[in-house]
Amino acid sequence: MLIPCLACDSRFHPDEFFRACHDYNRGRDLVAWTCPRCGNRDELRVLPGELGFGYPRRGRFDVHDRLRVPGLRRHRQDLRLDISLDQKVWRVPTRLGHMAGAR
Ligand SMILES: [Zn+2]
Repeated sequence: MLIPCLACDSRFHPDEFFRACHDYNRGRDLVAWTCPRCGNRDELRVLPGELGFGYPRRGRFDVHDRLRVPGLRRHRQDLRLDISLDQKVWRVPTRLGHMAGAR
């Protein structure tokens, strides 16, 4: 299956898509993603079996579009999110600046 960039409509294999994830925000439960093609930066929520795309609103994140990714799993660690699919694991680290800013 292929996962689209909502900005430029490029489509990516899961490995290419998840390697472009960076900065897991644990408090908001979002990963940042920068499109390798167009450079658009987006935020999304990784959920069991699906990806949630949406918009921040009033300090929350409203999921508007869900993309089913059968077999997708997530595991929250202290300082990263592990995303797994088809025996592969991608580790998205938490940027420590988020925590410093929260103090
Ligand atoms: Zn793009």
